[in-house]
Amino acid sequence: MTTVKDITRLIEEFAPLCLQESYDNAGLVCGNPEAQISSVLLTIDITEEVIDEAIAGGHNLIISHHPLIFQGIKNLLPDNYVKRCLVKAIQHNLNIYSAHTNLDMAPHGVSARMADKLELIHQKILHPAGKLYTFSFYTPLADAERVRTAILAEGGGHIGQYSHCSFNTEGKGTFQAHPGARPYVGEIGKIHEEQEVKTELTIPQHLLNQSIRTLLAAHPYEEPVWNITELDKANPITGLGIIGELPQPADSLTFLRQVKEIFHCSGLRHSPICKPVIEKVAVCGGSGAFLTRDAIAQKADIYISADYKYHDFFEAENQIIIADIGHYESEQYTKEIFYELVTKKLSNFAIQFSKVTTNPVHYLL
Ligand SMILES: [Zn+2]
Repeated sequence: MTTVKDITRLIEEFAPLCLQESYDNAGLVCGNPEAQISSVLLTIDITEEVIDEAIAGGHNLIISHHPLIFQGIKNLLPDNYVKRCLVKAIQHNLNIYSAHTNLDMAPHGVSARMADKLELIHQKILHPAGKLYTFSFYTPLADAERVRTAILAEGGGHIGQYSHCSFNTEGKGTFQAHPGARPYVGEIGKIHEEQEVKTELTIPQHLLNQSIRTLLAAHPYEEPVWNITELDKANPITGLGIIGELPQPADSLTFLRQVKEIFHCSGLRHSPICKPVIEKVAVCGGSGAFLTRDAIAQKADIYISADYKYHDFFEAENQIIIADIGHYESEQYTKEIFYELVTKKLSNFAIQFSKVTTNPVHYLL
């Protein structure tokens, strides 16, 4: 039988929780990691309608993109929809899980799904973010390769299109074991010299803890030594937004109409069409106005995002076309990511897309 934990582990392997923004609240917000799951409902937002749909459909796990809870809750009175949803979820043993800004930041996350819908090629992260570290450790010469191999197997040591990147220097380590110690080599009370290898490799934040656990498990010493140094560059494969190219240049107005259709927009707001042809396209799911300058700097012809305010549109400055397609519209396909992640390795439960359109924004046409 599949548990909540089995499912959330798959999502977090793809979108580690440590990638989420400080204001965010991704993860399991209601329920029990050990609860058994027979049916999953996928949604962008959690509303009372979605909770009712889950109860009526016999779903016991709801996976959403936007978390239900963002702020502290001091009581469970039924005076707003968040608390009413929570109480009803608890009464019906519903588990609620969300992957939000961690899924925005993950490689092939929310914005990459938008880019795929637009069939962009040569996709890369528009605004790299996520910490990178140098992880260094000292191993006796005879064990160095085995320990290094075990740690690299956790996924560190990737630079661009290269894997297993490490730098290894030989040197002499010294130590003296004191009574109570159980030294791997050397004798209690005698200074020992050991030929050791210092291994250095680059590692992203989300692999740090597991890599340290692996070091401790694989290393022969009682007290392995390691150092972690934060690098001054962001991880190029995690971050916000995507920039890519259209397979064929497109007439700007025709392309805008296609975007409107692909994202099922009732309306689409855009800045002046300052470019006749679109080749390079930047996208960011959700509120992405803060990345306009990144899109201009990387010579995108159009930047597709949402939640633009009046003054934000002036930032286009005839250098780019800004297209605001709506927050929900930009993120609607995120549900597909959940579906694929969860069904790729697990199959002994039902899974369904919510039939509720949770978009709170409507247009009078
Ligand atoms: Zn959003």
